[in-house]
Formats: sequence, C-alpha cells, structure tokens
Amino acid sequence: MPESELEAVLTQARRFLEQQKRMYGSTMYLQQTLSDDPHPAAAPVRTAAPAPSVKTPTPVPAAAAPAPRRAAERPSGPKEPWQDASDLKQLNAKICNCLKCSLGKMRTKFVFGVGNPNADLMVIGEAPGADEDAQGEPFVGRAGQLLNKILEAVRFKREEVYIANILKCRPPENRKPHPDEVEQCEPYLWKQIELVKPKFILCLGLTAAQTLLKTDESLTSLRASVHNYHGVPTYVTYHPAALLRNPNWKRPTWEDVQRLRKAYDAALNT
Ligand code: SF4
Repeated sequence: MPESELEAVLTQARRFLEQQKRMYGSTMYLQQTLSDDPHPAAAPVRTAAPAPSVKTPTPVPAAAAPAPRRAAERPSGPKEPWQDASDLKQLNAKICNCLKCSLGKMRTKFVFGVGNPNADLMVIGEAPGADEDAQGEPFVGRAGQLLNKILEAVRFKREEVYIANILKCRPPENRKPHPDEVEQCEPYLWKQIELVKPKFILCLGLTAAQTLLKTDESLTSLRASVHNYHGVPTYVTYHPAALLRNPNWKRPTWEDVQRLRKAYDAALNT
C-alpha cells in the first residue's frame, strides 16, 4: 500500500478512536459476533478431556426440584389412553402397536424396556439397534453385553435396574433420532420414569442425555456434574457402543459409574 493511502487509513482510525473515546470514555465496545451454530454449547468431546474429580455429588434438594413431569401433562392434543396406565405392563400393552412416527412401520419388534419395575436405578439409552430390534429388548447386542459388564463392575445386576431408550423403534442404519420422532416417543419414556420412580438415572451417550435433560451441552460438560431430572439425580456417561469404537473411553466411563455408585450407596445406605 502506498504511504499516502496508509496515512489516510491511520488518520481515519485515529478519528474513529477519538470519537469512541468522547462517547464512551476509555472503554472499548466491540460488537458481539453472532454464530449460525444452532448448538453453540455443544463443543466436540475431547478424547483427552480430564475426567471429573471423584466426589460425592451434592444431594439434589427436594424443595428446589420441580414436580415430576408427567406424560399426561403433554401440552398438545387430547389425552391418550396410555397416559392412564397404572403399571409398566399396562403401558406396554397400550403403546406396543404405536405408529405415531415413521419408524413404527419399519420395526421388527417394539422395544419397550426391561428390568425391575421398582428399580432404584434407571438406565436410559438412545434407541434400539439391529439386535434390539430383532429381540424386542434394549441393550442385548455387543453394546448390551458391555453395559452388563459396566453395571457389574459397580455391583449392579442387569435385572436389578430398569433399562429403556428414548425411542422404542429402531431408526434405519442406527441414525440419530429425528426431532419429530423424539417428540412423539419421549412422552412414553416420561411415563416409564413416572411409573418406575427411580432414585437415580444414568444416561448413556450424548443423545440420551441432551434429550432427557433438554440441553445442548457437550458430553464432557454433562459428565462433569450431577443433573436434576425433576428431582432425580441424573448421571451421564458414554454409550457402550462408543466404548466399542474407542476403548480409551472405558476408563472415564468406569470413573463415572463409580461416582454414581458412591452416591447411590450414600443415599440408599447399601
Ligand atoms: S419410535 Fe416411538 S413414536 Fe415412533 S412408532 Fe415407535 S413407539 Fe411410536
């Protein structure tokens, strides 16, 4: 750039700064950059992210917890028969032929949930995979076997907990659930939680955690604290399928479930 043009640019810059100083004093105001990213808080999970320190989580104060969200309180549409189900068996019978979203027509089997109907711990995943779709039970494939091992490592038997997914039917190619599918299906899960009345919840993977907790936070951030799902202390860790792809995440998962076990023992005196 010729020297004369450079001088002109500098003169303009000086004038601008003097004008700013007259208006705002010596504080500089900068325009905030707006992002098009719909999930600005969902930073990518860093493999080497530090694991949260092992500590007993602060108990969730009952007074501060909102009332449990009831499926019957779903804002839109007339009341549906399943909303009055008084136990899990009844609920399953009322929704097992559901065709509310397009996944209903594609399923082999409806995958309701499995386990102890009075479980103190509820484990929540994303959606059925191929094995689950074939057998009608959540977490039965390789990821399911790994989940059993994870639970056993902290002294939970599979049949002692209750296991369910956000979606009851398998998305093709195991893709992420679409928002309209979640909108149609998640109320069934809310009703399951209402009927089981768990004392603790463990979310497996980012999709399950973000959906249930209504947040865009990253998995790293979600794992780092204990969440309050309508009064129920809720922990987040990796999905077992992710651990099959990346065994480096097994150790942080182990630390997450240990924290959960510690809080569970403290709360239930086991
Ligand atoms: S995924 Fe849920 S909402 Fe969709 S058809 Fe299956 S049960 Fe119904």
